[in-house]
Amino acid sequence: MRRLRNVKIVATLGPASETYDTIRALHEVGADVFRLNMSHGTHDEIREKHRIIRQVEKDLDSPIAILADLQGPKLRVGVFANGEEELKPGAAFRLDLDPSEGDATRVCLPHPEIFQALEPGAHLLVNDGKIRLEVTACGADFADCMVEIGGVISNRKGVNVPDVVLPLAALSEKDREDLEFVCSLGVDWLALSFVQRAKDVFEAKALADGRASVLSKIEKPAAVEQFAEILDASDGIMVARGDLGVELPVSAVPPIQKRLVRKCRAAAKPVIVATQMLESMIESPMPTRAEVSDVATAIYEGTDAIMLSAESAAGSYPVEAVQTMDKVAIEVEADPTYTQIITASRTAKGSTVADGIVAAAREIAEKTNVKAICCFTQSGTTALLTARERPGVPIIAMTSVMGTARRLCLSWGCNCVMTPELLRFKGAVVNAARAARAGGFACDSDQIVVTAGVPFNVPGTTNILRVAPCDEKLIYSTDPE
Ligand code: PGA
Ligand code: MN
Repeated sequence: MRRLRNVKIVATLGPASETYDTIRALHEVGADVFRLNMSHGTHDEIREKHRIIRQVEKDLDSPIAILADLQGPKLRVGVFANGEEELKPGAAFRLDLDPSEGDATRVCLPHPEIFQALEPGAHLLVNDGKIRLEVTACGADFADCMVEIGGVISNRKGVNVPDVVLPLAALSEKDREDLEFVCSLGVDWLALSFVQRAKDVFEAKALADGRASVLSKIEKPAAVEQFAEILDASDGIMVARGDLGVELPVSAVPPIQKRLVRKCRAAAKPVIVATQMLESMIESPMPTRAEVSDVATAIYEGTDAIMLSAESAAGSYPVEAVQTMDKVAIEVEADPTYTQIITASRTAKGSTVADGIVAAAREIAEKTNVKAICCFTQSGTTALLTARERPGVPIIAMTSVMGTARRLCLSWGCNCVMTPELLRFKGAVVNAARAARAGGFACDSDQIVVTAGVPFNVPGTTNILRVAPCDEKLIYSTDPE
């Protein structure tokens, strides 16, 4: 799908968005990446959503990235007989290991490790920190708490324990099963929740074994401290503001977001800004001004992607939420201030031939009237380097590897087009010109920049930059073989 913006939109799928018609509509209005949240839904439900996404991709002939978000060592309560209960301030509430359904006095917290690590006086935060419990007494299989701040607690709500270091493995047994399951289905991105150190990422990468790229969710103070190593180990990053804002003061989140977005761009790795971006649109067709401003801010900062969670998964206006993000993005990216900020925050380039070529491509785009930068990429690296430049014209990422096209759907500005395996540069130029014309990026009388590596199909060989006409007759008559 041709987009009129560079920033990408990730939409989480859930009960509000599980039919073919809705998923197709979400993609048509702007969702570039679909997120499957492994914290919710059975494997059969995930398989069905996966099948529908791939069907939409095929029907619209438009690559789509699927991101499977592993729950990670996230603590969650069990389920309630009534689905939810209201906890009143001052009331007693018990957490235990009894798997039976909960009520107003107790619920299961199916994590034995946590009871061992808790002490009286520790705090448990439930449902994004909205409910606050203080531990009054605890044992090996229970914690008696006093409700400090009350609210509605419902099935499988998350629990954070900021005061205590929990001895939890990076990937739970469930995560390992889920990882194997989604990799066997074929997903493009795996998101790791509650990453604390680079080692967690290496572990997941070893299990994924090249079947999916790995994105680290930054939602623990420890991950912020270890960010350089985690970024180095990861293929992408999510600024997971939900849990980050529970584990750290909410006021600490915006500066962290800014810093992480810049570092990811410098590393040429995609970054997603996530959570509560259009929260009020779960129930309202109109976002708040503050939410619109938050979406705009993330785009001005240069993020690769912005994400919808409950807005698209469980809200009443999933399609409208995507449309809102799309509109805000178009508006922001047309603002000269955006170009100024993005240009001013361009970081020092690397020292490879590819670095030089992508910088040259961007400069040509700035100084002349070329209509697009078409880069031939097998692994996706050249497209990522081109995206880091944040050029002022569309990037067309041409690849014969479907997985690469899908994966790049998360990266700023990459319009992904499948191309047959090529042997000659002239054929590449013809294909690039065709893709630029077919996508509505250029017409016959325009010029484009084409970058490629010759010989073809050798990764990491980007070594050609050609400013080419879009008119095929001209290409045939002027280009060398
Ligand atoms: P979650 O992650 O929605 O899986 O919790 C995102 C966040 O914490 O912001
Ligand atoms: Mn989270």
